[in-house]
This record gives sequence, C-alpha cells and structure tokens, in this order.
Amino acid sequence: MRYKFCPECGGKLIQKPIGDEGLIPFCESCERPWFDGFSTCVLSVVMSEDNEVLLIRQSYGDTSKFVGVAGFMKPNETAEQAAEREISEETGLEVLELTYLESLFYEGRDQLMLGFLARVKKGTLKLSSEVRAGEWFDIDTAEKTVREGSIIQKLIIDAKERIK
Ligand SMILES: [Zn+2]
Repeated sequence: MRYKFCPECGGKLIQKPIGDEGLIPFCESCERPWFDGFSTCVLSVVMSEDNEVLLIRQSYGDTSKFVGVAGFMKPNETAEQAAEREISEETGLEVLELTYLESLFYEGRDQLMLGFLARVKKGTLKLSSEVRAGEWFDIDTAEKTVREGSIIQKLIIDAKERIK
C-alpha cells in the first residue's frame, strides 16, 4: 500500500527525497515519512512426529483447496508467537518445536509471509470456525495436494529438504 494521506493526522502527503530511498510520501505536519505498507503474516507447515503434514480447508473464500495454517501477525508479537498462536487457534494442536524456513512475498495481497516448520504432537483436532476441515497427508501427497506454485507448496518442499 502506497500512502497518499497521513495515517496519523489525515493530512495530504508530499513527495520528499529521503536519504538513499528516493522520493517517499512525507507528512509536513508530523514531520515523518510514510514508507509503503504491507502486512506481515506467518504460514506454517504443520508436521507430526512421523512427518505427516496437516493441511486445512478454510470456511471462507475457496473452501475446496487445502492450505497451510496461516494468519496475520499482531503488534508486539514475535513471528514465533504468532505461528504458535495461529496453530493453536485453528487446530487446537500444541507446537513442540518451531523452525524458521524462509520468507516469501505474496505480491497479489501485499503480504510478507514468514514460513515455519512446526512440529506438533498429533492429537484430536479442535478446529476453529475459520476452518472447515483438517487432514493429515504424507509429505509427498501434501506437496501435490496444495495449489501448484503456491507459497505453502514452496515451504513444504523446503521442509522436505530439512527432514532428509
Ligand atoms: Zn501527519
């Protein structure tokens, strides 16, 4: 998102050269620049002790596709805390070990996705209302089940390398 008005005072922003950054939207009343904004999200490959991957189908949007467990980060939260919170909220599963994989930018949605491999103890799923279904797959099947070229597919491939 490119700012046109100041999110603090509502004033119209001017374009001002800022250091090496080039022209940046700037509020003359608040005397501060407003760099392009985007959301930061966490996305996890949820994996059991026997290397099975949990994929979910959401209750909103395209409910037919299997996706990973993801969500928006909240202010004052670390990415690790956000990943654990989303897994707990959406599946009821407890994270035993969390490994950072990589970050990928979701251009269509202006979201920076921070990818994790989350080891969980396989247990009874307590799905939130956001989740329609959850299913365990062996890792190769999981890779083929998610949308081709998707960010979760890249993370599953990355996770597969780690567990070799
Ligand atoms: Zn302002």
